[in-house]
Amino acid sequence: METPNKRIVVLGGGFAGITAMVRLAQDLARAPGLELLLIDRNNYQLFTPMLQEAATGLIEPVHLLRPIRPLAREKGFRFQESQVEAIDLGWKAVETDDGTIGYDYLLICMGSVTDFHGVPGASQRSLTFKTAEDAALIRDAIVQAFEAADHESDENRRLALLTFLIAGGGATGVELAAAIHDFIHHDLVSLYPHLSFREVSIILAEASNRILADLDTDLATVALKVLEGKRIDLRLNTRITEVSPEEVGTNTGEKLRTATVIWTTGVQAGKAIGALPVNKDNTGRVIVNAMLQIPEHPEVYAIGDNCRFQFPEDKEPLPPNAQVAIQQGLTAACNIISEIRGKEKCSFTFRPMADLVSLGRRAGVADLFGFKFHGPTAWLLWKTVYLLRLTSYQNKVRILLSWLLASLFERNVSRFRVQ
Ligand SMILES: Cc1cc2nc3c(=O)[nH]c(=O)nc-3n(C[C@H](O)[C@H](O)[C@H](O)COP(=O)(O)OP(=O)(O)OC[C@H]3O[C@@H](n4cnc5c(N)ncnc54)[C@H](O)[C@@H]3O)c2cc1C
Repeated sequence: METPNKRIVVLGGGFAGITAMVRLAQDLARAPGLELLLIDRNNYQLFTPMLQEAATGLIEPVHLLRPIRPLAREKGFRFQESQVEAIDLGWKAVETDDGTIGYDYLLICMGSVTDFHGVPGASQRSLTFKTAEDAALIRDAIVQAFEAADHESDENRRLALLTFLIAGGGATGVELAAAIHDFIHHDLVSLYPHLSFREVSIILAEASNRILADLDTDLATVALKVLEGKRIDLRLNTRITEVSPEEVGTNTGEKLRTATVIWTTGVQAGKAIGALPVNKDNTGRVIVNAMLQIPEHPEVYAIGDNCRFQFPEDKEPLPPNAQVAIQQGLTAACNIISEIRGKEKCSFTFRPMADLVSLGRRAGVADLFGFKFHGPTAWLLWKTVYLLRLTSYQNKVRILLSWLLASLFERNVSRFRVQ
């Protein structure tokens, strides 16, 4: 293989990394002596906004995965499936489980990992909600709890099995709580005739005094009412202090009996980012300049969930979400292209487009370019916008078909165990 004169390495093929690489490839794929390399531990990109539907059997988790290889072939960049272990900013090298790779320009966009805030027992006894595997495990855990409860004669144990606690009242926790409610009350109810569904409880625990903190307050209030209508047990100002087998302790002193805890709150940077000797915030996000560069290492850009970016006029940094990641991917790629072409780099600007929250069947809240919607309109908007945002045409068709089939048949609750 010919050794390139220059190598641009993108770490992470998520929203930020794929956007950046596609933009880089548009301009530079045919540039002589230049290599474009994307590294990810998985050979696919996960579309997270629909993950709650995969966690409740409405769609298949695999339909949210876009394979990177066909994209690499089409756009003309190289892909390597490796786990990034460390980044040496001084030597301009990335250490992976498959060896060391040097770079001239580096884009760090490896997303975030769940932060359990040091709560005892939380990391060992909670399910996380980040990956396609997590979604499959959650669906499995719900069905398994119902199978066990169906023949459990001890009332306390049965109640614990039928209580599902979701930690975190952000969009992820709210959407998951609503989706679990619908899965249970529309599909599981008729399959377990010996169970009383009055014994089922879905608890949503949120440490602050409101849900959907990043959303407009009026829309958050509408969402709150929808959740109350579904009899989701909302616990505001409730911080989880301990997760023990079948019991969760809270700051209010209450002990909540549950066999299933799903942790959706808190994000932090992964190990390789956490170890970087640069300025970071308290969640490990790298503090970048207006061009999204690490100030001490201008050849290195940190974007998406890996960076903390705040406009001088704002009180808070931008939240870690897909919209921000995509727009930062474009700016970082353009800045690298500009530098190579000897042009002026530009500062990052952000255009908020849509805040969409699905609240189960025919319910949702949406803020689209400042226009606010709720009810079936918002639900329809959620479905349409995210279907259009799915980057794989094949997956668009598969998901559309799954939605159609779900309106005709009940969900498949078979537990398929691969040992
Ligand atoms: C369940 C869920 C629902 C969400 N819903 C929404 C939503 O509706 N709207 C919205 O705007 N945002 C949503 N988000 C947030 C959004 O997914 C993230 O903010 C966004 O994915 C961040 O993009 P990114 O490119 O920084 O990271 P990611 O998209 O997470 O990509 C990171 C990539 O890096 C790879 N990687 C990580 N570590 C390593 C390593 N050590 N070595 C090699 N590769 C590595 C990963 O495999 C992954 O492909 C949701 C998140 C979750 C978990």
